[in-house]
Amino acid sequence: MDRAWIELDLNNLENNINEIKKIIPEKTKIMAVVKANAYGHGDIQIARKLSDIGIEDFAVATIQEGIKLRKSGIKGSILILGYTDISSVDNLLAYDLTQTSLDLEYAKQLNKYNVCGKKVKVHIKLNTGMNRIGESYKNIDNVVKTYRLENIKVEGIFSHLCVADSLEKSDVEFTNAQIDNFTSCVNEVKKHVKDIGKVHLQNSYGLLNYPAFIGDYVRPGIIMYGVYSTKDKDIQRKINIKPVLSLKAKITSTRTILKGESAGYGRKYIASKDTKIASVCIGYADGYPRALSCKDTKVLVNGEYATVIGNICMDQLILDISDCKNVKRGDVVTLIGRDKDKEITAMYLAEKADSMTYEILSRLGDRLNVKI
Ligand SMILES: *Cc1c(COP(=O)(O)O)cnc(C)c1O
Repeated sequence: MDRAWIELDLNNLENNINEIKKIIPEKTKIMAVVKANAYGHGDIQIARKLSDIGIEDFAVATIQEGIKLRKSGIKGSILILGYTDISSVDNLLAYDLTQTSLDLEYAKQLNKYNVCGKKVKVHIKLNTGMNRIGESYKNIDNVVKTYRLENIKVEGIFSHLCVADSLEKSDVEFTNAQIDNFTSCVNEVKKHVKDIGKVHLQNSYGLLNYPAFIGDYVRPGIIMYGVYSTKDKDIQRKINIKPVLSLKAKITSTRTILKGESAGYGRKYIASKDTKIASVCIGYADGYPRALSCKDTKVLVNGEYATVIGNICMDQLILDISDCKNVKRGDVVTLIGRDKDKEITAMYLAEKADSMTYEILSRLGDRLNVKI
């Protein structure tokens, strides 16, 4: 009997890919962002399905994530979006991973390695205003120099948008400036480099809100999983995405406590009347945020709402099941997902926890089995 687990609806993943394809140009490919264990969904299961439906390009955050995908047989390109220590260059080559170049200095370090004539594949990251990583779009010279390094093979150039999810006037102006700076840098570099490789810019909100930019790839993450970031975010082009992930766990015990009795650590919940309660085997160590404690957070049990009471524990939590019928050990609790006509969304939890869907999903833990 499973304790707590994730269920994937891979048909919904396929639906979301098709919905994204509808709004991007035919020649633009999808580079599927499967970092952070595919936003908590299970990277191998997600990448395999994506491969099955024709996705050939993936992005991860770390070299370990890339190696894991290769070891499970994922083919195609895998771009590491973040930093890789230079001591791991051998593994970039051994597993045929593409590394992001953070700037010219980093590229020069990568260039020092020439293992049996094999060249490290690289995409150049341009900083166009996020100011996190990347060579400044102003340093055309450095970008051209990166292309000319002999022991690396530059196959692409990209940047990242940091407020594409907002349609506030100043944010739109900022994003348009990012797009302009990226485009003009790329055009300038083209004058010096014959083949600059693949050009890409848009994340989920970039492709929803800034369709005019046409790259060789789009890099969707969150919308591929069928989820928007937070409710107040603006979207130009709504598409019919559907959530891929459900989060479930089992009821372990039920009991009735009397008016005035407490439940859980810190005695944060005191029953205002005699109350039927149940414990569930999932906790914050599984990624269900402790910030949802004492917030009247709803879950579903047998098609009815139940309420999380008291402090969420590391491995368990406690519910008020007054409104649920015949709850017994082994019954399934839906913490994210549908049960009959009701649904708990990742967005709902994100708002309750004062967070965003990205964090709620990506922190779902290793202890959860992934069921397809
Ligand atoms: C995470 C990430 C993405 C995907 O972002 P979403 O907002 O989930 O679509 C795209 N590009 C880069 C560089 C990223 O780090």
